[in-house]
Amino acid sequence: TTTNDTFPLHFDFTPSAAARADAEREAVLADPGFGRHFTDHMVSIEWTTEEGWHDAKVVPYGPLVLDPAASVFHYAQEIFEGIKAYRHADSSIWTFRADANGRRLQRSAARLALPELSVDDFVESLKQLVSVDRDWVPSAPETSLYLRPFMIATESFLGVRAAHRVGYYVIASPAGAYFPGGVEPVSIWLSTQYSRAGKGGTGAAKTGGNYAASLLPQEEAYANGCSQVLFLDSVDTTYIEELGGMNVVFVKRDGTLVTPASDSILEGITRDSILQLAEDRGHRVERRRVSLEEWREGVASGEIVEVFACGTAAVVVPIAELKGDGLSIVSPVAGPDSLTLSLRAELTDIQYGRRPDPHGWLTRL
Ligand code: PMP
Repeated sequence: TTTNDTFPLHFDFTPSAAARADAEREAVLADPGFGRHFTDHMVSIEWTTEEGWHDAKVVPYGPLVLDPAASVFHYAQEIFEGIKAYRHADSSIWTFRADANGRRLQRSAARLALPELSVDDFVESLKQLVSVDRDWVPSAPETSLYLRPFMIATESFLGVRAAHRVGYYVIASPAGAYFPGGVEPVSIWLSTQYSRAGKGGTGAAKTGGNYAASLLPQEEAYANGCSQVLFLDSVDTTYIEELGGMNVVFVKRDGTLVTPASDSILEGITRDSILQLAEDRGHRVERRRVSLEEWREGVASGEIVEVFACGTAAVVVPIAELKGDGLSIVSPVAGPDSLTLSLRAELTDIQYGRRPDPHGWLTRL
């Protein structure tokens, strides 16, 4: 075991004895898919009420040993993040708006009564892992290393209260091009029977329970030939919120971009970045409630000219159709010179270092 001196947490490093040989790794990187393969190491940091954050380390990737009474298994006290590392043409490796993901992890922690990790320690945890597993960052176009930081309640205690012992981990998974043959528009299923988030609930936090609640409606979406589910506001179902794992944006005829605002939506960093790039180009941006009726009428009258979904995994995807029980809203086709695809190209050009980074969004890992 060697020690890497870093500020402010110090990370110990234990190299993996089972690190895969170059040929095996290259075979994985040739066709990584998404979320199926993991790198040779992971980050682990402990927290207790007495000691705060301590025992930061990079260790061989492998199973966590947890007591069956660990409260995460019973009361789902957990949060996570999703962020990518991109390899540039000169082989350097960068991440995108890591501070924003770090702050979102802090907001999720506050809602789930988990301890906050400093943004500096969050960013350092990503650097530490990528520095030992650099060779796992693929280099083919539109590929990346997907980083999954997560925090779980590890205390063995069945009482219902915030845990006094918590673990934070980061694992990494090489990700292939989401759309190897060019960006494909998707169909979305409208869930009217189920909600993912309630008023005063955890919708704005990135916590497993929200995703558990979305799995059944997601199955319904697949059964109806759709790739994602659209959720409505659970209190006033005239308004739309977001997809199971992406935010929604509308482009109006006059170039205004409109996106739902609500305290039960996960505030996507992709959405925020796309809207910033649109504002930089002089487009107006509205963050406000959006009704299903506005979507239907807007498409019918030609007031809405493009509809897209956005998130870290797929970046930006045109929405071709919203389907539901007896419902079909077909969006105009987002052509090659649509705002949707042009903003997508601008964002990915920044992420992959193909054009300047005017907002200082990239951090070298
Ligand atoms: N909404 C939900 C429910 C999500 O899971 C995600 C993916 N993290 C998003 C929106 C988009 O967020 P981001 O752009 O930060 O990936």
